[in-house]
Formats: sequence, structure tokens, C-alpha cells
Amino acid sequence: TPPVLELVSVTKTYQVKQGMFAKPKPLHALNGVSLKLNRKDVLGLVGESGCGKSTLAKILLGLEMPSEGQVLVDGKEITAGERRVLARRIQPVFQDPYSSLNPRKSIEDIIALPLVVHGVGDSASRAQSVTKMLDLVGLPARVRRGYPNQLSGGQRQRVAIARALIMNPEIVICDEPTSALDVSVQSQILNLLGDLRDELGLTYLFISHNLAVVEHLATRVAVMYLGQVVEEAPSQALFANPRHPYTQALLDSVLTPDPSLSVPETYLGAAYPNPISPPSGCRFHPRCAQLKDICRSMPPPHILGPDGHVDCHLYAAATTQ
Ligand code: SF4
Ligand code: MG
Repeated sequence: TPPVLELVSVTKTYQVKQGMFAKPKPLHALNGVSLKLNRKDVLGLVGESGCGKSTLAKILLGLEMPSEGQVLVDGKEITAGERRVLARRIQPVFQDPYSSLNPRKSIEDIIALPLVVHGVGDSASRAQSVTKMLDLVGLPARVRRGYPNQLSGGQRQRVAIARALIMNPEIVICDEPTSALDVSVQSQILNLLGDLRDELGLTYLFISHNLAVVEHLATRVAVMYLGQVVEEAPSQALFANPRHPYTQALLDSVLTPDPSLSVPETYLGAAYPNPISPPSGCRFHPRCAQLKDICRSMPPPHILGPDGHVDCHLYAAATTQ
């Protein structure tokens, strides 16, 4: 069976002006990204802010179209006119429940909104669905008459999950779903997402800057750097044996005391580069501790493994000598 969702060589380019009189320059937010999401997988997509994770989420949600490449659902290409198909089958849970929930709407209206937008059911059946969803995400029935500012951060994230699930989606795209929450609440939400996946047979794309958060849930992990997937592997293999130097650095930084910090600059030696003028050769080379001469000038080869890939000159010796 084909993957439920697949990206094939997807590129997304924006024209960006740096300064009032500057000519716009292309920014490749995504640069030839290929990814497969198999049914009931949890694909963890990890990288620092600016690496293209959120652009990728928007393309999968049909909010943006790729500049080049294809989006396939069940092996069939989705064209611009079919974006609504994506919207029904794929639902988002966004980063910040504080800003993604309308403060002037009741919890009931917020959760029912996707049904209204897609014209599903009447008001009685929508109210019934809301009751079901509140129960599913572990919220008391009385919160339906309340408003977002009366709920805790964790409760608001449960509301966002209920809103995503009311469309009965196959795929849920979680973009940093726990990064605005306290650590103890984070694990409750991660457990809830895991339970819902088992119960409903959901497929997740789970986006985070934090590998530790992804480790809870992910069955596969893709690591992004400057618009490219530099390593992809089954979760266990990736955590046991990270191959790309960037993945290794991310794993080390998991041990930093503050989980909200991204990769410490000092460890990687240089700041995250400007995506408008990415480094030559391997885009990671200015920050790589294992840099070789060839890395400055030659883009790394795409080395396929038994179940994944790594893009790095370190692993090319066996195949190219
Ligand atoms: Fe480091 Fe070279 Fe591998 Fe890039 S290709 S990650 S610079 S060793
Ligand atoms: Mg983001």
C-alpha cells in the first residue's frame, strides 16, 4: 500500500526583501524534501526554528502550495483545486493554544468550528459531537460554556486537540503542540496524543525543535536543517545510533537543563545561517565538528540505509572509493 501521505522533492521558495531598496531574493524554505508518512506512524520532524518545519506543515495542510514537487495522498497527486481534500483528512494542532483559540468564542463553538466550516451536520448533531470530543480528550462537560481564558494551558491544548479530532481526520499534524506548556503538563498531553492514536488509529506528523519530546511518541524521525531532511530513520535506530553530526548535536543538547532552549550556539560553533544565503557545500559545514575539506565545496551525497537515509560525506567512503 502507498503511504497515506508523501512529499516528493518538494521545494518552497519565497521572494524576500532585505532592506527597503534591496532586490527581492529567493529564500528556499524547503529544498527538495521527500518524506513518507505511513498509516499509524508517528513521524517526528525535528529541527531548529527557521529550518522549514512549519512551511512543510502548511503545505501538508493545503494552506500553501509547493513551488516544485508533489504532494501525494494514498499515492495520488493533490493539485491546487483539491486542497479541500487535504483539509478534511488532515487536521492541525498548533503550537500555542493561547493564540490559536479565539478568546471571544465559547469552547463549544471553538470545538465545533471545523464542522461549521465544512458544512457537516446540524446544530444538534454538532453539539453531540462536541460532547463526545470533550469526553475523548478528558475535559469535563461543563467547560463547553466557558471561554479560553478560563482554562489552564493544558486544558486549552486539549480543546485544540478536540477541535482537530471532531472532523474524524486520518492524519493530525502537531506543530510544537507542547512547547508552550509546563514540563509536567507536556507529558500529560503527549500521553493523551499517544492514547488517541491507539484508540482512533491516527497517523501523526509531530513537529518539534526538541528531540526529547519526539522520543515519547515517534515511530520514525526526520531531522531537518535549512530546508532539507538530513537524516531519517526509525526512532529507535536514530536515538541509539544518530549518524548525521547535526542529529548528534541535537541529541547532546537534549541534555541541556532548559528544554525550551534550542541547540546551544556554543556547542555548534556558529549561529544558524541565513537561509537566503546558505553555506556552500554541506549547509551544516560551518557548525560541524567533523567537517572534512570536501564538505566546504561539495553538497553531501544522499546515502540510503536499510530503512532511511543520511546526507553526509562521512558515510560516502564505502560507496564512492
Ligand atoms: Fe559535517 Fe561534512 Fe557531514 Fe556536512 S557532510 S555534516 S560538514 S561531515
Ligand atoms: Mg515553527
